[in-house]
Amino acid sequence: MITRNPCIANIKAGYLFPEIAKRRREYAAAHPEAKLISLGVGNTTEPILPHIDRGLVEGARQLGTIEGYSGYSDEGLLSLRERISMVFYKGEFGTDEIFISDGAKCDIGRLQLLFGAGTSVTVQDPSYPVYVDGSVLIGAAGVWSGMGYTGITYLPCTAENDYFPNLSLLPPNGLIYFCSPNNPTGAVVNREQLTALVEAAKKTGSIIIFDAAYSEYIRDSKLPKTIFEIEGAKTCAIEVNSFSKPAGFTGVRLGWSVVPQALSYAGGERVNADWNRICGTIFNGASNIAQAGGLAALEPEGLAEIRELSDFYLGNAKLIRSALQSLHISCVGGDNSPYIWARFPGRDSWEVFAEILDKCQVITTPGSGFGPAGQSFIRFSAFGHRADVEEACERLVQRLQ
Ligand code: PLP
Repeated sequence: MITRNPCIANIKAGYLFPEIAKRRREYAAAHPEAKLISLGVGNTTEPILPHIDRGLVEGARQLGTIEGYSGYSDEGLLSLRERISMVFYKGEFGTDEIFISDGAKCDIGRLQLLFGAGTSVTVQDPSYPVYVDGSVLIGAAGVWSGMGYTGITYLPCTAENDYFPNLSLLPPNGLIYFCSPNNPTGAVVNREQLTALVEAAKKTGSIIIFDAAYSEYIRDSKLPKTIFEIEGAKTCAIEVNSFSKPAGFTGVRLGWSVVPQALSYAGGERVNADWNRICGTIFNGASNIAQAGGLAALEPEGLAEIRELSDFYLGNAKLIRSALQSLHISCVGGDNSPYIWARFPGRDSWEVFAEILDKCQVITTPGSGFGPAGQSFIRFSAFGHRADVEEACERLVQRLQ
């Protein structure tokens, strides 16, 4: 009988969001009268705005015409790649350095194939779960020790270090996942810190996968929106980004990766050529309807809608932050990011999750699900309808006193 891939058996941590969904179902079954409000997952809730929506509709309509029909689009529409380069990277990248995808998470999973099972992986702790779980699946991480996986270097990001890791702990020749604005902490790396990260990656012979999925939530113009604002990053970094959170494309599915031609492995081979090969081998390109929507999103009217939508969620974040602050709960994030990271000293995250669920009927995300340093934290997400967020905040303020 064929045997199971042992890497799958190695995944011990229950994937966080299915576990939250299970607890939500159980609570709802036991309390059918409760009106649950979710400030938990990072799924978008608001409709796609009209200009971008028209782009999607028009993309679908074109497919029904002889002139407008298109089939596979491999690395993505040339016009979309050009537009991404202009809008996000001042035109600094050629179209052969930008790869359109079905989303940042899918890219993060596939990018591991470039480096394989022998790679030493470093993550910020806490971090978005796919960096770790994807590493386990590919065999780059070992077994679950109860606090983390062997073979993964967890760099704590806590209030004590301003949510920026101690770079002297980086192992040599590894893959570094770095996310800013950060999910879950909401912290945003500043220019000096990002310069130090790039320098450290070069010094240790490492490659950074920089996840910029929330870059459109940055409002402070001094904060870098892409790692490629830092000199030298083209020789040590890959960036992934997405239309999910800025344009509400979580269900539409559209993202991109930037793999500079200047990036190479220890043997001098070009990473870009391998990425092209992987995308062509196991991925046949993003939906052409989604790409038509992406093009509309990057027109001036679409960019104004991205601003409007991200402003809306940032407005929610501000409400959540004020509610927590009025309860004297210390928290970070929520100003240049849609996540608020709240601290409950000495408490277990799942216990706080259960208390908030029980007293307020509000779903949150336990910080410990994002890594050992997330213990005693709760992540609040600003993705929600305004009326729900307002009601959730009212319940928090009244019932958590
Ligand atoms: N990266 C981060 C940090 C995220 O939080 C998420 C989704 O929550 C993603 C990537 C996934 O993006 P996409 O919808 O493009 O797969």
